[in-house]
Amino acid sequence: MQIENNSVVSFHYVLREQGGENIESNQDSVPMAYLHGHGNILAGLEDAMVGLTVGDSKSVVLSPEQAYGPRREGAVQKVPVKHLAGKYKRLLPGMVVKVNTEKGAINARIIKPGKFMVELDMNHPFAGKTLEFDIEIKAIRAASEEEIAHGHAHGDGGHHH
Ligand SMILES: [Zn+2]
Repeated sequence: MQIENNSVVSFHYVLREQGGENIESNQDSVPMAYLHGHGNILAGLEDAMVGLTVGDSKSVVLSPEQAYGPRREGAVQKVPVKHLAGKYKRLLPGMVVKVNTEKGAINARIIKPGKFMVELDMNHPFAGKTLEFDIEIKAIRAASEEEIAHGHAHGDGGHHH
């Protein structure tokens, strides 16, 4: 069976910045399951999956445009400390905090903490980075009608309701 639209694909991955250290991996845990063709994963990664079969390994390189976009200078902002979501004992440069925005709480990295205002970098941590995924396909099955209707995979490594 090959990966095509409405396949449920389980895979292991290692993620690194191109030429850099590993950032993230799920090799020691349950493979991640996604529903192919529904935009559940980064588009460039999804495209690279097409036609793979169980046991296949592949290295996929994604430019910032194919991944999390370029870094935006406008995403660096001074925000009142009271807009931070959650209580923090001490704010330190480099710390990742949650901040309330119109779109809900997002992660941001502290550039410069202050007593009342804090300068935050709200860029995605991978913004501006060329990413490399080493993927290994562990399982492929046809999606159920319910999964297709929901637009995501159910069960191990997928969505639980
Ligand atoms: Zn569902």
